[in-house]
Amino acid sequence: MNIICQNLQKIKQNIPRTVSLIAVSKTKPVIDIQTAYDCGQRHFGENKVQELIAKQPLLPEDIKWHMIGHLQRNKVKYIVAFVYLIHGVDNLKLLKEIDKQARKHNKKLNILLQIKIAREETKFGMDEAMSDDILQQYKNQTFTHVQIKGLMGMATNTTDKEQIAGEFAYLHQLFEKYKKQFPEFEYLSMGMSGDYRIAIENGSNMIRIGSAIFGAR
Ligand SMILES: *Cc1c(COP(=O)(O)O)cnc(C)c1O
Repeated sequence: MNIICQNLQKIKQNIPRTVSLIAVSKTKPVIDIQTAYDCGQRHFGENKVQELIAKQPLLPEDIKWHMIGHLQRNKVKYIVAFVYLIHGVDNLKLLKEIDKQARKHNKKLNILLQIKIAREETKFGMDEAMSDDILQQYKNQTFTHVQIKGLMGMATNTTDKEQIAGEFAYLHQLFEKYKKQFPEFEYLSMGMSGDYRIAIENGSNMIRIGSAIFGAR
């Protein structure tokens, strides 16, 4: 059996069945994605629109594509037709654009709000006051063509496990707060190759794994 398959199986054996595994294929060739697909993987994540739209037509149609990276407003139109879930919605203008493009396609798009939990300047995401505000508007039916399915976050890139756990625990608590008001809240997307075990211990039900499946980039 090939190494991609082995890696996928090893991860799946070590996570609860209730946790969705997204194989992050950014920078990796189409053949690697096909290999993972042939091993049964269906959910894949990319972080650049250009790369996503180049790969998508070359691969099986039933792949569920996740846009996990920072998304620019002017690029939403290129992915609305096929994207399964947009993880990185971190501002109101972007959400409005997704709503507008989804309306044109006469569909509802699934999105996650990205919350900034890391203590780093480089990580994107909104704060709790902004997500409160956006969800209030959502409740008032301001957005008719998006479904807010949950939250996404990235922990600080550090070896301090307690800090990482604290950041994930905070996001979990925020997720539970919103879930009480919004029954469609389903996904808490947190955890990558280096920290997915800590993420799952702290309530994650969707992990985004790249290098632990496909090898270093
Ligand atoms: C690259 C990336 C991942 C996967 O990272 P690995 O460390 O390779 O598992 C997860 N989430 C986002 C948003 C990414 O950009």
